[in-house]
Amino acid sequence: MRAELLIENIRFPDGTSGAVAVSQGRIQSLGPEVLAASRSFDGEGALILPGLVDGHVHLDKTLIGLPFIPHIPGDTVGKRIEAEKHLRRTIDVPVETRGALLIEKLSAQGTVALRSHVDIDTEIGLMGLEAELALKERYRHLMDIQIVAFPQSGILRDPGTADLLNAAIEAGADLVGGLDPAGIDGDVSGHLDIVFDIAGKHGVGIDLHLHDAGALGAFELRQIAERTLALGLNGRVAVSHAFCLGELDAFDFDLTASLLAKADIAIMTTAPGPVPMPPVKPLQAAGVRVFSGSDNIRDAWSPFGNGDLLERAAIVCDRQDYRSDEDLELAFALVSDAPSQVIGRPSGMTVGAPADFILLPVRSIGEAVAERPAKRTVFKRGVNVTPVAGD
Ligand SMILES: [Zn+2]
Repeated sequence: MRAELLIENIRFPDGTSGAVAVSQGRIQSLGPEVLAASRSFDGEGALILPGLVDGHVHLDKTLIGLPFIPHIPGDTVGKRIEAEKHLRRTIDVPVETRGALLIEKLSAQGTVALRSHVDIDTEIGLMGLEAELALKERYRHLMDIQIVAFPQSGILRDPGTADLLNAAIEAGADLVGGLDPAGIDGDVSGHLDIVFDIAGKHGVGIDLHLHDAGALGAFELRQIAERTLALGLNGRVAVSHAFCLGELDAFDFDLTASLLAKADIAIMTTAPGPVPMPPVKPLQAAGVRVFSGSDNIRDAWSPFGNGDLLERAAIVCDRQDYRSDEDLELAFALVSDAPSQVIGRPSGMTVGAPADFILLPVRSIGEAVAERPAKRTVFKRGVNVTPVAGD
């Protein structure tokens, strides 16, 4: 069958050269064979890689598009929540504008899909969600967007939030979130009862933010795993951050990791510093899926972040002391195939998968992570969506 588009003169990660044929937004064939096609694109020898996937981002929080706002200090999660709410009341640029700029920025760097956590609280209600649902529709051609209803102000400490989380799922959020059942709500069972009840009632997955440290955090992870197993939600629950996994002794780590593996709970890490980081290889060796994401990009939580997932992979390598090509490839998977799988999207460069690619002027995945070239050609469902210079 004649292909609609042939991306030719490209290099595959295994070192071979060839072409990718695309039809109806999907990969029709790939390899050394060059098919006849209606149109062709000369890859000029670039390396072709699957489009990048951001497993954790906050489209509603970003301050991109505003003049730079100096960071408001606050050394606990609770203080940061209040600082953010204060700042939010003063911003007159809506989420739809700021989120749109962030989506375009991410796309330009090679990101083709993302999971966004949107704040749900009794002050803002579902306003952020409504804006993100509109963005999801508006940017369908550029980005697959999955939305988590995220109780940033807690659930029990902000009465009314549980009802709002239910309403958020009914309004179109894809997953229900949670936040430090002990550290923020002070009631592990009470918090998790509500989150898992909503997930069970609506048949949606879960992605919780867990900053609680040490033995307390590990206890919460095991509680999350027990509830996941009890509800049969295996493979549909993720925990973001889980710093505690980076500070457990061998006994507690093995106990917790084996339960996470049994419940197939995925762990998202941004490779943060200077807090402890979940150890990637030991988790994977225990059978736990690990993925990565940007988290805060120029918002009330951090003045930093640029959404570059190749840089994120390099940060993972830096924090985990990864230097070999194999290790750099492992880190690349944390920002491509791993989050793609977590958000339930076909991943990798295979026939039938979405034609979502990034072309880079390098020779290997290792070089892509080390070099992080500025020149990136991005295809979304077979369409070249690379911004034109000067845009
Ligand atoms: Zn987050």
